[in-house]
Amino acid sequence: MGTWAGRFTAYINKDVVNPNESKKTAVMTRWLCTVMMLYAIGQMLFMLFSGYYAFVVFPIGFFCIYGGAFRLTYSRNTVAAFYLVILMTLGWNLTSTVLYGWNSGAQYGYGILLVYIFASSYLTLRKKLLYMTGLMAAGSVIFVCGVYGRAVFELSRSQYVLQEFMNMLVTFSTIALTTTVFFGDTLDTVRKLMDYNREITYQAETDALTGLRNRRAGEKYFEEIRKEAIQEGFFVNVVMGDIDFFKKVNDTYGHDAGDEVLKVLAGIFQDFIKDKGAVARWGGEEFLFVMVGMNGDEACFELEKLCERIEKTPIQAGDQELYVTMTFGIEECGREQSMEDALEAADRKLYMGKARGRNQVVM
Ligand code: GH3
Ligand code: MG
Ligand code: MG
Repeated sequence: MGTWAGRFTAYINKDVVNPNESKKTAVMTRWLCTVMMLYAIGQMLFMLFSGYYAFVVFPIGFFCIYGGAFRLTYSRNTVAAFYLVILMTLGWNLTSTVLYGWNSGAQYGYGILLVYIFASSYLTLRKKLLYMTGLMAAGSVIFVCGVYGRAVFELSRSQYVLQEFMNMLVTFSTIALTTTVFFGDTLDTVRKLMDYNREITYQAETDALTGLRNRRAGEKYFEEIRKEAIQEGFFVNVVMGDIDFFKKVNDTYGHDAGDEVLKVLAGIFQDFIKDKGAVARWGGEEFLFVMVGMNGDEACFELEKLCERIEKTPIQAGDQELYVTMTFGIEECGREQSMEDALEAADRKLYMGKARGRNQVVM
């Protein structure tokens, strides 16, 4: 089954003979003809089972003409195949309206043709619009005939349902095939580009070791939230945090242990900040916290709890367990204060905390 389907698809996807022609329209025509030939067989069976024996000449003719168009796409006459498909589909719509009435679903055929014409590469846009107008006119005439005339067959309710179902199946599958042939690779490329852009954006804004925002993304967040805060009048605090004696951690336990500490702390920070703002790795072992919607005192209270949590968290690095502390400096941003000034003030307070003995919050 797999190889059979594969061989058939390969046959359908075969290149066109004309060297200066894209194969897309031909491939599209081949799929359309294949579906239409199956549809013709369906219509033939329908007529046989319904007792309309003489009328099977219509689906048989229909089958042969689509088969001919299919063959033509492998010759130099691909354009002829294109026009044959249009004429034949229109012809079938007319026949089917006359035989079964407009409401049997034959009108869907115009949708198929419209997509087919607009996706083809043989016509200029002007011609396509012209054909569209012609199609509308033909559809309207056939519709009026269907409304005022009487269908040849008086379909029973179940026959009517069956016709509608077959027509829908054909319409949906041909439009799906046509658009896949035509836009499939474009959509693939677009999807790849979107994935790639997402990946690049992620990499450009994320710190690889900790998975936190990097400095640039931290600054961006701070800038955006500050603008919002000034407009809407809520508090924003900028906080600088630095691990105490981190060099000693590296020297004592090794650089890998140091990295492990950074990762564990990053997890704690993320959990801490989730409903309060954002955190970024500012550099080495320094972190920027932007705390939103609380004043400096409240931020200080929260950070003191964080200090305590850090101090009490055992960090497993290799076969050793170690503890670290951190020092924080908070600046509640004033309306007139520039971002740089606020960051500098927070930094100053951080170093004040270091000078006063570390493991503390200064505001
Ligand atoms: P203080 O309490 O004054 O902040 O002392 P400190 O030792 O933490 O400060 P110092 O600035 O002297 O040392 C910072 C150290 O952080 C030095 C550097 O090797 C280490 N460091 C920076 N980035 C990384 C990293 O990505 N991984 C590891 N393991 N260490 C890092
Ligand atoms: Mg430090
Ligand atoms: Mg430092």
